[in-house]
Amino acid sequence: METNFVFEKSATAAAPRDPACFDTKLASTGGPAPRDPTTLAVRWIGVSNFELSYKGKIILLDAFFDRGEEWPPLGFHAADVVKADVILIGHAHFDHMSDAASVGLRTGALLVGAPITADKLKTQSVPDAQIRSVTGKGGELLKFGDFTVQPILALHGRPDKHIAEVMQHALDELTPKPSDAEKVEEKTIMDRGTFDPRVITEGTIAYLITLDDGFRIMYRDSGGRVTDDEREAMRDLPGVDLALAAVSADFLNPPTQDQALEYMRLYRPDVFIPAHHDAPVSGHAPLWRATEPIFQALKDANPRLVTISREYREPVCFDTGINVAHGRQP
Ligand SMILES: [Zn+2]
Repeated sequence: METNFVFEKSATAAAPRDPACFDTKLASTGGPAPRDPTTLAVRWIGVSNFELSYKGKIILLDAFFDRGEEWPPLGFHAADVVKADVILIGHAHFDHMSDAASVGLRTGALLVGAPITADKLKTQSVPDAQIRSVTGKGGELLKFGDFTVQPILALHGRPDKHIAEVMQHALDELTPKPSDAEKVEEKTIMDRGTFDPRVITEGTIAYLITLDDGFRIMYRDSGGRVTDDEREAMRDLPGVDLALAAVSADFLNPPTQDQALEYMRLYRPDVFIPAHHDAPVSGHAPLWRATEPIFQALKDANPRLVTISREYREPVCFDTGINVAHGRQP
């Protein structure tokens, strides 16, 4: 079967559906974890946040949960996140790390990020022992028992300035102005990240996560061009099973398609799940980024690719025993 690896094994009367594969309560907020040790549950939780639940472990990718009144509600708050083992932070902009410190302190999770990210966490009362600073330049493989994590230096998105200015101006004309209270709230949230310019070139980290049965996940939280370090990391691999990749912030479809195609050609994923496509209803870049034109462009180039986009907190389950490392063709 072509697609049965994506979803949970068929339910029967004796073995009903695994709640972890349909319940929208995050495992990290007390929801169900997968019953079967070969099941991976993946939930998108806005912007580039994901929850990975596997063998009783929880990996959070980015942490931006209390987003403010300007954003669509995620259905939970940062304070509800009570269980996490590792938080991999792609970069230190507020919309990727604003809740990493508070969630890390509550759960005891190890926080992984670039030196700039680590420096920000240290200003937020996170003990040094709970922070792992990585450059993504190689030789930093992190081992967690049931999975490993390879940090890889990536590059932040750099959308065309002219397009961004024209679109931002038009959107500012058409969308509700943030209230003073919303502006204050937004500033508080933004201050939990940094706009240090080094985030763009030194502070954006992709993570290659490999589960113990060989299932590989490439996570990239910002839609910038691929780097030599990413090429090096992929050089000897036939591909990954799952790419979790940010849609670039270019507003227009051709550049967002081109960026996704670059990821597909390098990572050679079996399954592609987009990120960073939701947006606030006012203020900063208030438009969702369309995923369908991207999916079509990817499939035109690779008809075997599986594309998936779910709503907030809706799980996608994978049978991780069926994977590229075991000979499946991406
Ligand atoms: Zn960013």
